[in-house]
Amino acid sequence: MQQFEAILESKQILTPTVLLVRFQNLNKIDFIPGQFITIPIGKQNRFYSLATTPLFHKYFELIATVENNGVGANFLLNQLKIGEKVTFYKPQGKFNLQNNSKAKIFLATGVGISAIRSMIQTLVQTDFQKQFLLFFGIKTKKDVFLENEWQNIQDQNSNFSYFYCLSREKNKHYNFGYVSGNLKEYLTTHRLNPQDFEYYVCGNLNNVQNIVEFLQNDLGISNAQVFFEKFI
Ligand SMILES: Cc1cc2nc3c(=O)[nH]c(=O)nc-3n(C[C@H](O)[C@H](O)[C@H](O)COP(=O)(O)OP(=O)(O)OC[C@H]3O[C@@H](n4cnc5c(N)ncnc54)[C@H](O)[C@@H]3O)c2cc1C
Repeated sequence: MQQFEAILESKQILTPTVLLVRFQNLNKIDFIPGQFITIPIGKQNRFYSLATTPLFHKYFELIATVENNGVGANFLLNQLKIGEKVTFYKPQGKFNLQNNSKAKIFLATGVGISAIRSMIQTLVQTDFQKQFLLFFGIKTKKDVFLENEWQNIQDQNSNFSYFYCLSREKNKHYNFGYVSGNLKEYLTTHRLNPQDFEYYVCGNLNNVQNIVEFLQNDLGISNAQVFFEKFI
């Protein structure tokens, strides 16, 4: 498979378990929002969703779990130094932002926000006119990251709103509970028809499965309107 190179420009620790890395886009790789790259690390591969819009041609970012000295975690956090090159395989994946004007709801859990961030940045850059909403599931307040970004987008786009949903801690600044329950309450309160949206779900295996089942069984959304990626 074709290989590409990028230079590590910066690292930013977002929470004790989440790292954001920015690479100079040396080979001018192009991709569809939602796609991921494959980084070979020793004899193993790790997959990372591109966390920036392809419209930012000069660089791209990844958002990585850096827990428990995992292979990918250790590589990005400790081994790879600023200014060094990383080799990776071309962007791929079918979890793609659809090029249409349908209103969109994004349901992310944990670092599943990476692919969804690329999609939301793309909608902002292309001046998307329909409503788009983000429900971002994390465990507790200490897991909150990227809040300033969503706040800035919300301040400048009246058609965007975001909601952090804390599953394990009540906090007056954030919603409590799972993203699915919070979504249902929002749709009901605002008298929105769930059928008027398409849905993008990204995160770990169990969360994505539960959310997709909720969309299909509870809200009656058809498969054609639900796009998802499971981080396994
Ligand atoms: C399509 C796709 C896209 C993806 N996109 C992303 C993304 O954008 N960001 C992202 O972070 N991940 C993403 N992933 C998952 C990613 O590829 C890795 O599997 C994940 O980040 C964990 O990799 P790791 O090498 O750090 O951990 P691994 O070495 O694979 O270990 C897995 C887990 O085991 C546990 N573990 C490992 N070593 C120990 C130890 N010594 N003691 C206790 N527990 C341990 C840790 O909890 C660790 O997280 C994606 C996966 C897919 C399939």
